[in-house]
Parts: sequence; C-alpha cells; structure tokens
Amino acid sequence: MDEAQKDSPTVQDNYAVGLEYTLVIDGEVYEQTEENQWLYFIQGGEQIIPGLESQLYGMRLGERREIKVNPEEGYGEYDEDAVGCVPRSELPGDIPVEKGAYLQMRDKDGEVLDAYIEDYDGENLSLNFNHPLAGKELFFLVKVADLRPATEEEIEHGHVHV
Ligand code: ZN
Repeated sequence: MDEAQKDSPTVQDNYAVGLEYTLVIDGEVYEQTEENQWLYFIQGGEQIIPGLESQLYGMRLGERREIKVNPEEGYGEYDEDAVGCVPRSELPGDIPVEKGAYLQMRDKDGEVLDAYIEDYDGENLSLNFNHPLAGKELFFLVKVADLRPATEEEIEHGHVHV
C-alpha cells in the first residue's frame, strides 16, 4: 500500500459507495456489475443486504475483497411453510399465469408479497413466497470502485445521485 492509499478515505456511514461486484452462488456466477455500472448506495443506510454492508466498513477506494454472506444475513433462511397451493380461479382472470413467473399478491394486511410460480397445471398454482435466494450462501467478489461522502441531499433522499 502506498502513502496516498493510506490517507484515502474508507467506507463508513453516510458515504456514497459505488461497488463493483460478482455474486457467486453454488459455484456459479449469479450476477455481475457491468463496466462503469456500479451498484450505488449509501453506507449505513440498510440499502443492501446486511451481511454485505457490514463487511464493507474500512475498505478503501480500489480495494478488493472476498465476502461470504450466510442466509440469515442475506435473503433469509428457506421457509418450508412459505409454499402453498392456490386455485387459478381465485386469481383475477387477466393475470398471466405461467410456471417460472412471478406474481405480486397482497396479504390480509395489504402488504405486497412476491410469489414465484413453481408449478401450474392449468387449474392450481403452486406458489413459493420465499425469496429466490433464500437459504443460499452468497459469495461476493467486490471492489470499491467509487467512494465519497454522500451529500446532504442524497442522505435526505436515501439514494446516491450518480
Ligand atoms: Zn434524489
């Protein structure tokens, strides 16, 4: 590490971070940022999964790190009970239904839930309300591609103005 790097700022609360990352799940690349299309967020703002955010503190601009995130600090444990069967007739007729697609449903409190259609036999749907990455261990290869203090306006808005 050279002198200039030692004095460079580190990832800390209320800093705007531009993160380059590759997400590997079960040994395969699940997603990857494009060149100059970093993931921007305000550190400490709970805008990314907790297990990733907590391990970025102290990183410097240009630094790379391998970060492992357990399900409980990622997208949650897989919940066997969050799977159910619904007759097609209970859904509005204009909703397109096909295996592998996502549906948005409202629970009794009016909260929007995303459901994955695991199976559809023309009559009944098997719906899975788990996040598609629930129960998965996430392996991130990250690089701090951009780093500066967030502006007051950004903190107020809760997002980075790129
Ligand atoms: Zn804004």
